[in-house]
Amino acid sequence: MNLSLSQLPQVMDLVAVLLLSLGIKGLSKVRSARAANGLAALAMALAVVGLLIQSHPTTTTWLWIAVGLALGGLAGVVTAMKVPMTAMPETVALFNGCGGLASLMVALGVALFQGAESGGVERVSIAISLFVGAITFSGSIVAMAKLQGWLETPAWTQSSLRHAVNLALALLCLGAALLLWSEPAGPALWLEVVAASLLGIGVTLPIGGADMPVVISLLNSYSGVAAAAAGFVVGSQLLIVAGAMVGAAGLILTQVMCTAMNRSLTSVLFGGALGGATTSVGGGGSEAGYTRITSCSPEECAMALEQAERVVFVPGYGLAVAQAQHSLRELAKLLEAHGVEVSYAIHPVAGRMPGHMNVLLAEADVPYEQLIEMETINPEFPRTDVVIVLGANDVVNPQAKNDPTSPLYGMPVLEVDQARQIFVVKRSLGAGYAGIANALFELPQTAMVFGDAKAVLNGLLSELRGMGVGKEKALV
Ligand code: NDP
Repeated sequence: MNLSLSQLPQVMDLVAVLLLSLGIKGLSKVRSARAANGLAALAMALAVVGLLIQSHPTTTTWLWIAVGLALGGLAGVVTAMKVPMTAMPETVALFNGCGGLASLMVALGVALFQGAESGGVERVSIAISLFVGAITFSGSIVAMAKLQGWLETPAWTQSSLRHAVNLALALLCLGAALLLWSEPAGPALWLEVVAASLLGIGVTLPIGGADMPVVISLLNSYSGVAAAAAGFVVGSQLLIVAGAMVGAAGLILTQVMCTAMNRSLTSVLFGGALGGATTSVGGGGSEAGYTRITSCSPEECAMALEQAERVVFVPGYGLAVAQAQHSLRELAKLLEAHGVEVSYAIHPVAGRMPGHMNVLLAEADVPYEQLIEMETINPEFPRTDVVIVLGANDVVNPQAKNDPTSPLYGMPVLEVDQARQIFVVKRSLGAGYAGIANALFELPQTAMVFGDAKAVLNGLLSELRGMGVGKEKALV
């Protein structure tokens, strides 16, 4: 087979597609994820170089490309270094928005400067890319602002009138897309961009509370669809393949999140804010008028742990905030050395991003087989002596099972209330992400251990060491 130099860009594109596929496959395992990420980045770099070789840029264009690369690269590096794990969902939302904006810009550029020469496939792709790209961009910015706590769910967005407004905007987009067919660079271009951007805001703004994870993964899927459409616009195989993979993966994740929360996608998108009409996301909330709270010191908690045969830790968002994963691992090791059976109960939406708890605990080298998923661990709680809830709240709220009036009703939760003794470690009686009270705190078998998760865990460690726990193994 003879390959000429002019075919080099296509070969690079193909190699990039293969590397990207391998990279995405590698992401499915914790151990290979880091290398897989590098592989996918290499694929993207290869594709960019291939494209540059193909398009023979002028010196001025090279300059623009270099400035763009430097600025974008710097912004990426600074973000990656500075953003804490707990702010990952906002960052993912922002990156999704950037993906949508990039696809929108590509389609706009082609429509404005080469629109007249474009064929049927390009014109349809331009319309799709503009539509999905604009929705993804504006929707992601709204989602990011809500996750950051900069934006609340306005009460008016809960009225059913919003459906009519959104429908009108969708029809406007459709009309503009049809006009683009005959005149790709005409005013319909801007009409579609504005209407789709408003639609993105209109669809995302009413969604709040615990539904946010679903929205983030859906927007992630949209950014893939927008990229795939942009791939058709510029004829890039890599963009089409990568976009289709992101689109499909995002959709699967959305379905998994919906199942985990016992919500249908339509109820998330059209049902309004979970957690009350004007609930702000991101936690906080009042101390909700609790009347039967029992609190205890780390010392009492340590005594219960010392007696226990089986202990389950329930990590939540607060554990990530406190960065207490290493202290937790140390405590678990100490208890294991004392002969206690230890495991960790993982709720699919604990924390602030899919897989948050798995990543957090993997950082502290917690053995993967000790992380037990909700369906598997729930039947085990009745035979558990002590459950320690560490900075988790919504994912252990029994009202999700028992109280049909609760905004969380229907979401499967970790049934820690079935355990013999429960200790809840958190700083106050404040609410979790959904902004509602938690009946678990008032159960007779529950005791609150108030404090920062790391400080409490370190307190437990020194109490247990003081009792001689964990030394037994060394003596045997
Ligand atoms: P929650 O947000 O329900 O509760 C976290 C608790 O952690 C708070 O009540 C807070 O209480 C406590 N906390 C905060 N900082 C500390 C600290 N330093 N030490 C100890 N405790 C602390 O978390 P869950 O993990 O239970 O639930 C996740 C929620 O987030 C769900 O509602 C889910 O739908 C939502 N969500 C999930 C996403 C995902 O993809 N996983 C994405 C977006 C939202 P206090 O202030 O009193 O300490």
